Amino acid sequence: MRTYKVAQGAGHPGDEQKLVDEEARKAGLPPARVPKLFTGTVWGEVQMPRENGACSNKVTFAPGARSAWHRHEGGQMLYGLAGNGLVVTRSGEVTRIFDGVVVHACPKEEHWHGAMPDSFMTHLSCELVGETEIYDEVTDSDYAAAVEKARSL
Ligand code: MN
Repeated sequence: MRTYKVAQGAGHPGDEQKLVDEEARKAGLPPARVPKLFTGTVWGEVQMPRENGACSNKVTFAPGARSAWHRHEGGQMLYGLAGNGLVVTRSGEVTRIFDGVVVHACPKEEHWHGAMPDSFMTHLSCELVGETEIYDEVTDSDYAAAVEKARSL
């Protein structure tokens, strides 16, 4: 049995960038850009680090904070724990997420998740296999449109 210390703060994307910079420097290559996973302040708590493909994280988004567009090779299960948020797919589907709601992002389905503008949102995130590919940031206007749609549900 193992226990894990909770890692808090919005530093995850920056930490990843530092690692890539260090690897590039060692290899004598110019620095590469790591796609930014989050807009706004997000706190991540590792519950089970990625080993053999699977991982589990508790993630809290400040009001208005959201992930970039991304997809999980093997899909992802999101379990709402607190607050109010939304999950949005490239096809335009918008789902609200809050305490007790389970949302599955299908394998390779492009989506983003985040908090509503007037609420924090905490979810559990579980992935079984594969990599996460990160794409473009969710613009303020796309975020606002998705929020409006979520409020109409
Ligand atoms: Mn996701």
